[in-house]
Amino acid sequence: MDTIQSNNYPIYFNDSITQLANFVKQGNYTKVFILTDENTGEHCLPLVQEQLGDTFDLIEVNAGEESKTIDFCIGIWKMLIDFEADRGSLLINLGGGVITDMGGFVASTYKRGIDFVQVPTTLLAQVDASVGGKTGVDVDGIKNIIGTFTQPKAVFMVADFLQTLPARQILSGLAEMLKHGLICDAAYWDELKTSDLTVPTAALVYRSVQIKNEVVIDDPHEKGIRKALNFGHTVGHAVETYSLLNDEDHLSHGEAIAIGMICEAWLSNKKIGLPDAELAEITSVLSNLYPKHHIAADCHTELYSLMQKDKKNQGGKINCTLLTHIGQYSVDNICTEDELCDSLKYYAA
Ligand code: NAD
Ligand code: ZN
Repeated sequence: MDTIQSNNYPIYFNDSITQLANFVKQGNYTKVFILTDENTGEHCLPLVQEQLGDTFDLIEVNAGEESKTIDFCIGIWKMLIDFEADRGSLLINLGGGVITDMGGFVASTYKRGIDFVQVPTTLLAQVDASVGGKTGVDVDGIKNIIGTFTQPKAVFMVADFLQTLPARQILSGLAEMLKHGLICDAAYWDELKTSDLTVPTAALVYRSVQIKNEVVIDDPHEKGIRKALNFGHTVGHAVETYSLLNDEDHLSHGEAIAIGMICEAWLSNKKIGLPDAELAEITSVLSNLYPKHHIAADCHTELYSLMQKDKKNQGGKINCTLLTHIGQYSVDNICTEDELCDSLKYYAA
């Protein structure tokens, strides 16, 4: 697998931890910090420590989306101040999407920006969150509402980290891989459909990163083609936020996006002619992989109001990225409240 080149930064796939150690050495950083959560501190840090020795200071936060807040950022900024981090420091974000998003945000704002690299340890972070330069945190349960577009200096993919991931976390990242096939590559979708996806192979992860990178590289600030990646995310984000606010055992990002993709495939069929057979295929593949989640009919209005708050919308209209075919997307399809609620009914049926 060749190194993938993104917007001025490399994404390494081979001997990545050695590559990380070389990067740190060659960077001549004044100080090096590693940000982990309690799980990546246990499962992933030892492998990194073998290569880096004790050349870094560790900052650890609690695991989970609940940590992705400004309060936690303040805690991390204060630790950087206590450790006397200066402009010449490096932050290594070793974790899932919570750590890569929050660590990227902390680094992009500390002293107006210090270098950071991403070492994604979940499937979701590898195929999605660590590539593309979006950083951010949640406020009052509203996802990623505060953040920046800042590119990391490099990304290091380590396939071994996926071995300790719980099955639900694999499913979460898988939703984005399936999305990559649905929007850009029908052959890749077919391959995923027929593969054993218990732990996706490095080759499948590589193809997903290639697709995500091809989309973001020309549109780093999400003005045009990058909207392709929003398929499943208009409905999915609302379902995810609602679940975060209301369910004790809330949906993961990917589980919510899987629901969003079924709803938005239905909208694609009703509005822009996604063939019936392709809608049926998408619904069946996703329903077989993801357990059914109960969405009560009386929460549709609340879900719609969450969709209206989505930062992707402009001028109060709800814009969806839909599919004309498996492997072909279409951006900026305005959907009405009735259509969106009907798509949720299709999922619930
Ligand atoms: P996460 O970081 O919370 O990780 C999920 C869980 O897995 C956590 O409990 C974590 O401690 C644990 N974990 C991580 N690596 C592990 C390993 N190797 N072995 C065992 N356990 C491990 O969440 P996530 O699902 O990786 O990411 C979700 C976040 O990513 C959301 O906040 C979402 O908004 C964000 N995201 C960002 C982008 C982007 O473009 N920036 C894209 C997609 C998602
Ligand atoms: Zn996503």
